[in-house]
Amino acid sequence: MLKARTDRLSFLLVWGVLLLIVLSLISTYSYVFITKQLAFESYLTNFEIQLIDERKNYVQTETGNAALKIESSYVSASKQLRSVLKSEVKNAIAIIEQLHTHYEKEFTEQELVSLIKETLRPIRFADGNGYIFIDDFEGNSVLLPPTPQHEGRSFFDDESSNAADVMLKILEAASSKDGSGFVEYQWYKPGKPQRTYQKISYVEVFKPLNIIIGAGDYLQRARDQVKEKSLADIDQIRFGEHGYVAVIKNDGTLLKSVSARQLEGLHYTNMPPENSAAIKKIIESAQQGQSFVSYKWFVPGQSNLQNKTSFIQELPFIGWILASGVYEQSINVAIARKRAELSVEFRSELIQLAVVFLIFAGIFIAIAYCFTRWLTHRFKAYHQALDSRRKKLRSSIEQLKLNERIVMSACEGIMVTDTENRISLVNDAFAKVTGYSREEVIGETPAILSSGLHDSAFYKAIWDSMAKHGVWEGEIWNRGKDGHTYPEWIKIFEYKNTHGEPLNYIATFSDLSEQKEVQSQANYLADYDPLTDLPNKRVMIERINQVIAHTQRYEGEQTCLISIDLDHFKRINDALGHESGDKVLIDISKRLKQSIREEDMVGRVSGDEFLIVLEPAKDIITVATQLAFRLLEAITQRLKESGTGVNISASMGIAIAPEDGKSSSDLLKNANLALNHAKKLGRNNFQFFTQSMNESATKRILIENLISTAVSHQEMKLKYQPQYRTVDQKLCSVEALIRWEKADGTIMLPCEFIPIAEQTGQIIELGEWILNEACCQAAKWLSKGIDLPVSVNISPVQILSDRFYDQVVSCLEKYNLDPRMLLLEITETALMTNEEVTIQKINVLKELGLKISLDDFGTGYSSLSLLKKVPVSELKIDRSFVDGLPFDKDDESICASIISVAKNMGLEVVAEGVETQDQLRVLAELECFKTQGYYFSPAVTAKEIEMLYSQNQ
Ligand code: C2E
Ligand code: CA
Ligand code: CA
Repeated sequence: MLKARTDRLSFLLVWGVLLLIVLSLISTYSYVFITKQLAFESYLTNFEIQLIDERKNYVQTETGNAALKIESSYVSASKQLRSVLKSEVKNAIAIIEQLHTHYEKEFTEQELVSLIKETLRPIRFADGNGYIFIDDFEGNSVLLPPTPQHEGRSFFDDESSNAADVMLKILEAASSKDGSGFVEYQWYKPGKPQRTYQKISYVEVFKPLNIIIGAGDYLQRARDQVKEKSLADIDQIRFGEHGYVAVIKNDGTLLKSVSARQLEGLHYTNMPPENSAAIKKIIESAQQGQSFVSYKWFVPGQSNLQNKTSFIQELPFIGWILASGVYEQSINVAIARKRAELSVEFRSELIQLAVVFLIFAGIFIAIAYCFTRWLTHRFKAYHQALDSRRKKLRSSIEQLKLNERIVMSACEGIMVTDTENRISLVNDAFAKVTGYSREEVIGETPAILSSGLHDSAFYKAIWDSMAKHGVWEGEIWNRGKDGHTYPEWIKIFEYKNTHGEPLNYIATFSDLSEQKEVQSQANYLADYDPLTDLPNKRVMIERINQVIAHTQRYEGEQTCLISIDLDHFKRINDALGHESGDKVLIDISKRLKQSIREEDMVGRVSGDEFLIVLEPAKDIITVATQLAFRLLEAITQRLKESGTGVNISASMGIAIAPEDGKSSSDLLKNANLALNHAKKLGRNNFQFFTQSMNESATKRILIENLISTAVSHQEMKLKYQPQYRTVDQKLCSVEALIRWEKADGTIMLPCEFIPIAEQTGQIIELGEWILNEACCQAAKWLSKGIDLPVSVNISPVQILSDRFYDQVVSCLEKYNLDPRMLLLEITETALMTNEEVTIQKINVLKELGLKISLDDFGTGYSSLSLLKKVPVSELKIDRSFVDGLPFDKDDESICASIISVAKNMGLEVVAEGVETQDQLRVLAELECFKTQGYYFSPAVTAKEIEMLYSQNQ
């Protein structure tokens, strides 16, 4: 499908490109063709105009030349005539002179004249029209050859003609200075007496005889000769193809026309109408002074008429009009010839151009074809690549979807975390097992599943294995959303990218709960006592081993085994029967279970023997003692309730691990020894395996019981330890420290009873009394002018109690005490327990205006970030660091750094437990602000403080 489309596309591409090239070449060619065609036409038009102009100029020049020639001939006609006349006369005179010289002596004047007359009479010239005449000065004609009858007569006597006038003109010329001259006049032609013609004569005087010799001729005749000659000349003129000059007489007679010989000599009125119109038009145009005129006329050698444009020139002196023209036909012929000539050129040019275009088209098409083929090829390859990639992608997507479905529907829980250990994927089984929905866990760390049942070493081992092998497998206890813990079998893989960097951690797990349950059902009978539902001895021993192992891992932690034996249970069985005995056992079991904490474990090991294993803790003796008391009470309570009249009590033996045994058997043995001891002591009691523990347990009970009454019995006393400013050793404040002075005069130190009071909660009440007492004292002192702020130690239990804030406020109000007189001392470790709430409470207290002092600073984490969060005003360097001064350099540098931290943070610093002058000196050198300790004074009564104060002042 895609291939077909690609083929079609490439086909279209190839042909489209080719078509485009052909089209563009055709349009370019057409453009060139049209522009060339236009240029060709305009060239021809110009050529025509030019040709016409050229021809016109030509005919104009030719006509002009002919006219000039005629004019000059015409003008020279009279001159020639004159010179002929003159030379004829001169010839005659030469003859006369010869005759005169020859015959002068021989002949008389009369005879000589006659001789001359007869000699000259036959002389003719100018085609026989010219002759020599002789006149005398009297006006008589001596010789006149055409009319000899007039010889001897005076011209003056002839009144019929203008002879007298002519004679006068001749005499005038002969009388001129040089005795010769030309005379013009009208005279008759021989044999034509009707009219006169213009005549010129030359006369010259032959002085020896005093006669006037003359010769004359008619001017007209000379001129006619010129005209004739000119016409003959004009007739010879040819130029161009059909060029000739026509001559028309003013009166309308056609004198010369090469193309119309038949009309020559005809007046236009006698011509055919079209010729007549043409001649008429020429004459009229000439009269109007136009130089060009168009008409129809013959073409030489042809009988049809053609359009013709002629240049016309009038020659008024001769009464002619010259016309010489250009035939439209010949122009057209010339143009047609030119056009044909150019057309050939144009065609060959176009052909050349076409060839060039075709070559270019060929080249372009070839290139375009190759290029588009290549492009198509690339295109196809690209499509194929795309196609295969798309296929791969689709199959990857399918695969991914399949994988996802597999993951999602897997029975095992699956959890994927990223490199930052944030959960990025979980499946349905995960949600089912943990109770967390996908949305709740995505982005969280797996820590939300932590049950708290595994220590950090356990998790470290997992991560070590991951780092080493990239995989870990094992059982783990996790906590679900609803808080229940469950075991799961988990396998964690590290998923790395190609560079070997970890990308994800994939954990698959299966809830072992059910499996365990089934197993436990199976195991139940083996592990549990069917009567009481309590674990049996085997399980208990296992648990003992577990907790012992724990205490061995965590130094300072202890665990405790309590072995319980009901007193005289055999008697109950015997008296009430086994069934009632069983009921008692079940009942007792319940009570035992209710008395212990959740994390502890109770089991029945035989008949009326029970075991309790406590969760490891730090101060286990206290816990054990308290529990033992509770158990005794719980068991005897049953006695009262059942009303059977049978006394039921129990004896208990307590062994502490690891002190009393590092194995289950040792511990069990020792617990039983302690149990026997309790039995021996008269039953219904408990005994620790070690004596000292027994004592401390007893003491603890005692203290616990006595604290509540100690205040009312006024056995509690508040003492004050002075604090001195280091620079000038001025007594500037005090720390309140509690003392318990018992009725027998013994004094109990706070570290003995304060922890117990804290555990039992009695500290809240006691603390209130202390606070009250301290505020009262501070107020009293102030009233006496003793300005001593009092530091009061506050237990973490107090701070966390809801009543504490109100207690502080009411104390301050009660004694109208300026809050600045009260300092609350809180230990660093107190801050760490329940950190957020504690900090929040301290912040609220701080707002009252009182100060907070951080006690035992340096023994805890001494974290600077904590210092930033808590608004303390004072740090108290713990006694343990002051102890080592001045010899222990470590202690010194610790003190120095605490002091510098305090300074940097703008806090005051107090060193406690200063016992020697050397210690004081070092602290002074370190610029510790205040000091307190036995070197100055232990805690003393208020009275004594007053004395110290006055001394110090
Ligand atoms: P603490 O707050 O660190 O008090 C300082 C302890 O060091 C006091 O012991 C004091 O008598 C003792 N001491 C003072 N100067 C020196 C010295 O130069 N050398 C030696 N070796 N010891 C010195 P005391 O009074 O037994 O108090 C012990 C702890 O009991 C106190 O430690 C404090 O944590 C707690 N405590 C005392 N009084 C009260 C109280 O009124 N309320 C609360 N909640 N706890 C109190
Ligand atoms: Ca203190
Ligand atoms: Ca302290």
